[in-house]
Amino acid sequence: MSSQSGPYYDLPVARIVEETHDARSIILSVPEELKATFSYTAGQFLTFGVPLEGHQWVRCYSLASCPDTESEHKVTVKRVEDGRISNWFNDSVTPGQTLHVMKPAGHFCLQARETPLVFFSGGSGITPVISILKSALATTQRSMHLVYGNRDQDSIIFGAELRALEAEYPGRLKLVHRLDDTDGFLDLPSARSVVASAPGADFYVCGPGPFMDVVEEALAAESVPDERIFIERFVLPELEAPAPGAAAASTGEADSAQVYLDGGVHTVAVQPEETILAACHRAGIDAPCACTEGYCGACMARVKAGEVEMLLNDGGLDDDQVEEGWVLTCQTRLKSAGVEIEYPDAE
Ligand SMILES: Cc1cc2nc3c(=O)[nH]c(=O)nc-3n(C[C@H](O)[C@H](O)[C@H](O)COP(=O)(O)OP(=O)(O)OC[C@H]3O[C@@H](n4cnc5c(N)ncnc54)[C@H](O)[C@@H]3O)c2cc1C
Repeated sequence: MSSQSGPYYDLPVARIVEETHDARSIILSVPEELKATFSYTAGQFLTFGVPLEGHQWVRCYSLASCPDTESEHKVTVKRVEDGRISNWFNDSVTPGQTLHVMKPAGHFCLQARETPLVFFSGGSGITPVISILKSALATTQRSMHLVYGNRDQDSIIFGAELRALEAEYPGRLKLVHRLDDTDGFLDLPSARSVVASAPGADFYVCGPGPFMDVVEEALAAESVPDERIFIERFVLPELEAPAPGAAAASTGEADSAQVYLDGGVHTVAVQPEETILAACHRAGIDAPCACTEGYCGACMARVKAGEVEMLLNDGGLDDDQVEEGWVLTCQTRLKSAGVEIEYPDAE
């Protein structure tokens, strides 16, 4: 399914930069004819289809480059312990290799305001944050405070680039590193004091779960309104399991769909209130997904037969794709019997 007409596009790897002992940047070469398709806003991400061992793995990586100041498309992948695809990116991807990539997506982007900005970023969560930060430095006069948590000095991604930005924009960027081995994990009092020191600011948060939990608690404790808080989650919330008894209660109404994935076909029982993606996962079928909220496109599949209802398309699909019969399976329910759904193959 990969081609130059989507949903996956073939992009060669131009260069690789080893950032730290466990993270590397992949710089992609975007051909002239795909420049418009791959134009993006700081903070957006790319979705990669990685065919490995007979399965199509789908993973999102934020663009760490900045469209306002750089022409390259750069993602930075940090190893996750026992992670299948983050380690593949770090061990196996080489310059010249072609990767299968969906066009940029995501809403974790700068809002057009003049208020100060506070960024809380942990580990690989720096990727969208540095993109937004570079964009805000170049295109606004806003002041910025970045709290950047890492395990230790050697784990800091983009340390030199951040220092250079601090020097280039004196008085606009305050950079505070928080290292687990010397400062301990970010705690509630420290996070609250940063939040309290920036009344009226917009807050951007991206990092590991426990780091984000502390920041969210601090924001709530300081009564920061929701419209000033922007959060990007790298780790999926578990797909909600059906309520106990729900399956039994609705067994009579459950329908089934034929799901084409990885060259095979599965018959999947789908409950009336259940999405196709949730039904696949409940049946043990590893259908691709990432955000599960309708904005990333990772779970897109084409309807080959039958009628379905897509509850939300929050930018995951464009109008042409909807017209062509693509749906976001995380948001799609059955409307008729005989539905057939085909996930794209990146090979
Ligand atoms: C919108 C978005 C943007 C992202 N941007 C980036 C980015 O710029 N750089 C980057 O390195 N990653 C990013 N990620 C995370 C990335 O998509 C993968 O989830 C991550 O690389 C792990 O994939 P894997 O196949 O190696 O691990 P899997 O084989 O899927 O998982 C292995 C184990 O690690 C846990 N796990 C999964 N993801 C993480 C994680 N991020 N941190 C800690 N534990 C995890 C899983 O629960 C599982 O137990 C982003 C995710 C999203 C949704």
